[in-house]
Amino acid sequence: MTETTESLDLSKLQDELDAINAQITKQGSTVRQLKKDGASADVIDEAVKALQALKINAAGLAEKLLGSEPEFDRKAFDDLLIRKMFVVPSFEIHGGVKGLFDLGPPACGLKAAMIDLWRKHFVLAENMLEMECTCLTPEVVLKTSGHVDRFTDLMVRDTQTGECFRADKLLEDAIDDLLEKNPTMPLETREEHLRVQRQADAYSPEELDKLLLQYDCKAPSGEPYSSSFPFNLMFRTSIGPEGTAVGYLRPETAQGLFVNFRRLLDMNAQKMPFAAAQIGLGFRNEIAPRSGLLRVREFCMGEIEHFVDPNDKSHPNFPSVADKELVLFGRDDQLGSGKTKTIKIGEAVKAGLVNNETLGYFMARTQLYMEKIGMDPARLRFRQHLATEMAHYAADCWDLEIKSSYGWVECVGHADRACYDLDVHAKATKTPMVATMKYDTPKEMDVAKLKFDRKAIGMVYKKDARMVSSALEALAEDWKDFEPIAKALEAEGKATVDGYEVTKDMVTWEKTTKKVHEVKFTPSVIEPSFGMGRILYSLLEHSFYQRDMDEQRNVMRFNARVAPQKCAVLPISSSAECNSVVDEIASSLMDIDMATRVDKSSAALGRRYARADEIGVPFAVTVDFDTLRDDSVTIRERDSMIQVRLPKKEVPNVIYDVVHGRLTWEDVTKKYPVVQVDEGEGANTQAASAPPGAKTVVEATSRGRFSRPAPAN
Ligand code: AMP
Repeated sequence: MTETTESLDLSKLQDELDAINAQITKQGSTVRQLKKDGASADVIDEAVKALQALKINAAGLAEKLLGSEPEFDRKAFDDLLIRKMFVVPSFEIHGGVKGLFDLGPPACGLKAAMIDLWRKHFVLAENMLEMECTCLTPEVVLKTSGHVDRFTDLMVRDTQTGECFRADKLLEDAIDDLLEKNPTMPLETREEHLRVQRQADAYSPEELDKLLLQYDCKAPSGEPYSSSFPFNLMFRTSIGPEGTAVGYLRPETAQGLFVNFRRLLDMNAQKMPFAAAQIGLGFRNEIAPRSGLLRVREFCMGEIEHFVDPNDKSHPNFPSVADKELVLFGRDDQLGSGKTKTIKIGEAVKAGLVNNETLGYFMARTQLYMEKIGMDPARLRFRQHLATEMAHYAADCWDLEIKSSYGWVECVGHADRACYDLDVHAKATKTPMVATMKYDTPKEMDVAKLKFDRKAIGMVYKKDARMVSSALEALAEDWKDFEPIAKALEAEGKATVDGYEVTKDMVTWEKTTKKVHEVKFTPSVIEPSFGMGRILYSLLEHSFYQRDMDEQRNVMRFNARVAPQKCAVLPISSSAECNSVVDEIASSLMDIDMATRVDKSSAALGRRYARADEIGVPFAVTVDFDTLRDDSVTIRERDSMIQVRLPKKEVPNVIYDVVHGRLTWEDVTKKYPVVQVDEGEGANTQAASAPPGAKTVVEATSRGRFSRPAPAN
């Protein structure tokens, strides 16, 4: 069975299980109703039996589902990553450092292609304003954003050894262990443990301490852990030789975009909504880096800040994605059924499950991006943040989670952060961070007409006097906003505006109406935040398979668009003539930016195909003895191993068109004659040393020399 059909079977099993679970809910309520109505014991008994039968059925299916996950050979995968230098531990010969990894050539190529597609899919397609801000960030910026005080994880220590651990991960691991050791645990109890596990990073220190005790979590020394306490994840440093200016390596790229908001708005000719984007490094001093590239201390992020009117979060392109189906794991389902829902994003927004169109739009675009780079759609889902996980100012958050051998892992956050970020920077720097929206036709509005006593304000606030009057003026533009201030001033003689205490002697007002041509507001921010390293790692896992379950035949099935190298060119013999044709084809491919790998080694052809398979090269062109006679070559497609024969001068166009999606491989097999070649190493060794014309699998027909597959043996 191929992995694709396995995924399909899994989703069929999941559908069946979901259907039975729905029947269980219905039958459960029937039983309750019967009891309430005082039905006879026989009738109740029968209904209970039906309920039990359904539960047994569901448990069987759940077990099947758990057991039928495609097996993942982590050892072979990890070996391949290191051997082919996808990823290596940084500073390895000095003993390495936890949570730091270097990417080798194939992963660099893959990452560059992923980022190129990301820029095209988001930045270029939507005219986003791209920036590259510095990683070194002065303390004041991160104090303002809240990172200095709150960018923490809860940590515990082994009281004997001082070793540090991330408390929520200990709880998650303990629950995994418990479930693994008790496979026959009743479904409801299992669900309850999973519910606790899903909330692990949302508990308070006190709650976590209790749970760690409850799940009997002990430190490696055998002692209970210390109480949990917050640990700030930022790397602190100093900027400049005096050592007095505190700085941090940025933990996210977003702040650089927020502080540039006014210039970005100008750049966009003051038009709203608009988005800014940035790709760059983020640094987090993770307490317990683990799971390969999934939790590291330095990683590439791609962040988008979409600035939007808080009262109108519609998105002009939403209709283009409204029918896209996503797998959603809403907060009610996380705390209740534990089941996901597959639903069109248009319906999810309409039903209020996803807060607004812009948030929904980006979730759908993220799903499309993941599909484009070749992620397995059956292993993607969007999980909504629980109320306890969300910052107080956030309106809604959904994480795209990707399933790998480490379980479901958050790879892209989608957060509606309301006006928080612009507000805090505006207040701290006394720089208005507002946008203006012009009305098509002027609006008649109730407003407050203000008269300031500038002397009174100046006496109290001196150089901040302008900030106080501007804050009042902003509120006065809509009577609804000013009314509470007016009431407080009348009733108590004072009111607080943007943190300033305003007293009655500073301002008088009059309620009036005004034709308003525009409105000023602090934009809300909707932020998709991509962890490129996590996406890269997940893609590596989703792409890995072993041909015919043979551990010696590892393949990376990168799609042609993201594959680090598009084509291998191999000579069948080491003759000068063959080699010169190989060089000619390779350079014609390089000329059109098709990264090409030449393998002139003396290894058998099958071995050389296998080497290209391991780094995911989708096509291999072979120059053989027939090439020297008639200028034809073969192209082999990696996954089907099907080969076609075609004139060598057509190779660059064919590869280019397939890589750019203008042709499919199927089209190619229809256009050119297919040849079948035994890829066993012996056969290829023989072929490689065979005299011209000895390739017996190729047949001549009236349509051309090579028109149909030769018999298998
Ligand atoms: P956050 O700002 O915490 O929502 O993180 C944004 C994205 O960065 C996440 O969705 C992850 O993909 C990625 N990320 C966060 N922490 C790490 C880490 N320690 N290692 C690798 N990627 C990370």
